Order: sequence, then C-alpha cells, then structure tokens
Amino acid sequence: MKIAVDETCEFLEGCRFFNSPLVRNQQNLVDIMDLFCRGTESMECCRKRFLQVTGKTPPDGMLPNGQMLPPPDAAETD
Ligand code: SF4
Repeated sequence: MKIAVDETCEFLEGCRFFNSPLVRNQQNLVDIMDLFCRGTESMECCRKRFLQVTGKTPPDGMLPNGQMLPPPDAAETD
C-alpha cells in the first residue's frame, strides 16, 4: 500500500518567493517553484534552510536553489 505524502511546502502562505508576482511571469522561476514549493525538493530549499538556521526572513532575491536574483535596478545601466 502506497502512502500519500503531501510535498507542498509548509511555508507557502508567508513565503516572499512563492507569493512574488515576478515568479509567475518567468517560466524558469515557475519551474523552480513547481520543483521546490510544490514538488519533491521542498526539504532542500535554501530559503527554508536560511529561515531555520538564522530565524530571519531570507533576502527577497534568494531562490530556493540558492542562486540570487540581481537587484531590480541592476539591469538599468546607462
Ligand atoms: S521558496 Fe522554499 S520556503 Fe518558500 S514556499 Fe518555496 S519551498 Fe517553501
């Protein structure tokens, strides 16, 4: 008998990554969200680990895979 396991992250509701509108507009970020937030890699999420280790909210630009998004104004150069 197979036991159903809910792999959805327990921090979905308050997570700034998961709730960011930016995430839903970029397919690579949607893929990361599907893998970590609703998929099998939730326990490997760097944002979750940061919160558990420091007790602080991770930086907004931190992705679940540990990579950092550039600051919003970094693309604007002149
Ligand atoms: S980014 Fe990490 S902490 Fe946030 S909802 Fe996804 S898996 Fe959970």
